[in-house]
Amino acid sequence: MTSGSFDNLLNRFVLNDSLHQLFDAVDAISVQGYDEQRRVIYWNKGSERLYGYSKEEAEGQKLEDLIIPDEIRTSVIEGHLAWLNTGKEIPASEITLRHKNGKKVFVFSSHVLFVNQYGVRQMYCIDIDLKDLRQAQAQADFKEHMLESIFDAIPDLFFLMKSDGTVIDYYSSNTGDFFSKSNDFIGKNISTLFSDDQTDDFQAQMDNALKQKSNTQFEYEYSLHKVPKHFEARVRFIKEYDQVMVIIRDISEQHKAAELIRHQAYYDNLTSLPNRFLSLEQLSRLLQENQRSKEKIAVLFLDLDDFKKINDSLGHEVGDKLLIKCVKRLQNTIRKQDLIGRLGGDEFIVLLKGHTTHEDISKATESLLKAFRTPFNLDGRELILTVSIGIAMSPDDGDSASDLLRNADTAMYQAKELGRNTYSFFTKEMNVIMQRRLELEAQMHGALDRQEFEVYYQPQIDVSNRKIVGAEALIRWHNPVLGNILPDEFIPVAEQTGLIVSIGKLVIRQAVYFLSEWKKEHKKQFNMAVNLSPRQFRDEGLFEFIRDQLISKNIAPEQLELEITEGLLLSGKSYIKETLNKISKLGIKLAMDDFGTGYSSLGYLREFSFDVLKMDRAFVQGITNNKSDYDLVKATIAMSRSLELLVVAEGVETEAQLRMLEDLGCDIVQGFYFSKPLTAREFFEYSKSFQYS
Ligand code: C2E
Ligand code: CA
Ligand code: CA
Repeated sequence: MTSGSFDNLLNRFVLNDSLHQLFDAVDAISVQGYDEQRRVIYWNKGSERLYGYSKEEAEGQKLEDLIIPDEIRTSVIEGHLAWLNTGKEIPASEITLRHKNGKKVFVFSSHVLFVNQYGVRQMYCIDIDLKDLRQAQAQADFKEHMLESIFDAIPDLFFLMKSDGTVIDYYSSNTGDFFSKSNDFIGKNISTLFSDDQTDDFQAQMDNALKQKSNTQFEYEYSLHKVPKHFEARVRFIKEYDQVMVIIRDISEQHKAAELIRHQAYYDNLTSLPNRFLSLEQLSRLLQENQRSKEKIAVLFLDLDDFKKINDSLGHEVGDKLLIKCVKRLQNTIRKQDLIGRLGGDEFIVLLKGHTTHEDISKATESLLKAFRTPFNLDGRELILTVSIGIAMSPDDGDSASDLLRNADTAMYQAKELGRNTYSFFTKEMNVIMQRRLELEAQMHGALDRQEFEVYYQPQIDVSNRKIVGAEALIRWHNPVLGNILPDEFIPVAEQTGLIVSIGKLVIRQAVYFLSEWKKEHKKQFNMAVNLSPRQFRDEGLFEFIRDQLISKNIAPEQLELEITEGLLLSGKSYIKETLNKISKLGIKLAMDDFGTGYSSLGYLREFSFDVLKMDRAFVQGITNNKSDYDLVKATIAMSRSLELLVVAEGVETEAQLRMLEDLGCDIVQGFYFSKPLTAREFFEYSKSFQYS
């Protein structure tokens, strides 16, 4: 047995057994005993666990060789010696020691010095593992650090409060931007934090949120450095701690974006007027408000006359400028309480409030028309623009916004029909007309493809020898749903929709084909009259189309006669003049249709090289019993003679009419007296059996 092991043995006996029993029981704590040479004399389970040495391994080993890291070896030895020699205690402290595997062990170490009955001093060390504690601390540190980073990164304001609103803590990444420094808030109540009267709204909503004790959010406005801003406050209750968190965010940008989107959705870009949606919404609201007051609201549907032509001929840029100017005039004319909106294109809506009688509304509407009386000046150019207005009134003409708008629209159509630049009140009868019109429009769609159109031909008879010299091509529409529709009804609709262009081409193609068929059977010259609507002249390819048709069927241009009305010439458009000149230059004949019904201006007859004048059937039918009709027909024929125009009388129904026209020197007649308009096949049959008188 070595002396070391003897000492050990000795030491062991001098220890208090009951103390050891206690230490053995607490294996969560490391307890070590050392003799004066710092050799291990006691090593409990806790020490084995904490430092990795078994009791057998540790006993007899020196403290500094076991668990003391090299850096503190000297100071530990010195500290121990000093305690033995001078009685200076080694204070308890947190210290880093060493595991058997070399890893660091963090402990809280306390020390006691025993003196046994032999006067031998023994040091007991009690070490508590700080690993878990350290980790928890580190985690807490980390969490706090992370939170701070988050608060820093988020531009929001955070208030932590007691449930009564007393501020406990406050975070802001940018205190400069906000009201105050954080310390000023702590201990105060959130609802009295800002004395500013700007924050009344915030405080009221905050108080409410605190009262309700459930998570909410609200928005409020606040001007910072005189810049109006929008904020959102989110209130979150932390029930476990009886605390409330308020997160305040500057949402001015989102608010602006939302406003912009709202503006784009509800306002017209060009004029900044309320658009169709908003206008109808405003009307609905007005109707609701006025349900109680029983006040009448007038809905005015405005449509600029021939605005499309301005767009087509001068370009959209000019059109846009003109629209803006129109809106200015309208705005200057209506009263402050009236509303105006843009329904789209050249259509506007005006809502008049507080007028009770038709007279009042008529006056207000007339002043709108008057506003257009002076020409518009655009880039040095004078433009005349008029407007047609339809009026519907609540509650008589409808009690919903859409009904009123639709009826005002219908009335507007009527105003157009009355010759534009005027207004019209809605009547119940208009609805019937409108309904029919919509039906026609719907059925006309695709009617060409379904081959529902057919060209009929009405014979034209030479008065001098009662022979067929030609025909007028007249379109017919057979629709399976609506039946046979007369051109007087559907041609205006076709003009409106633009479908007249394709229908017109069909008529020309058929008429030229008729001529080529006629040529095969008859050697004689034949005259084919075809009606042309003003709208067809807007088609740039009109002249080329007609010419190509004639060429392809080898028909002389002289055999074709185009009938136009005075209305076409009235507009004075240069492109119409050009086309007419090209037509007559090629040799195609021009006929003035419906003479007597319009201005009957001789000027046009001279200005354009007309070949034929067609007297309207209204006068022709009156000649036998109406003196003034007789006089007019007589004068017309005389005038045509001097202008070297061929005179055609249409609508001849009786022998008496024919005789009288013959006496007056009319050249050609057309009418039921000879024949109704016939199909091509019927016409060929008719011509065979045609009896010359
Ligand atoms: P319009 O050019 O004045 O055509 C003559 C109209 O008088 C035709 O009516 C014809 O059927 C009718 N009529 C002929 N003889 C008599 C008669 O003895 N008594 C009476 N009461 N009426 C007679 P329709 O075919 O209904 O055409 C009406 C109008 O439609 C035409 O008037 C013309 O302006 C237009 N139209 C017809 N076909 C075409 C076409 O192909 N293109 C264009 N743009 N317009 C057309
Ligand atoms: Ca005609
Ligand atoms: Ca006619």
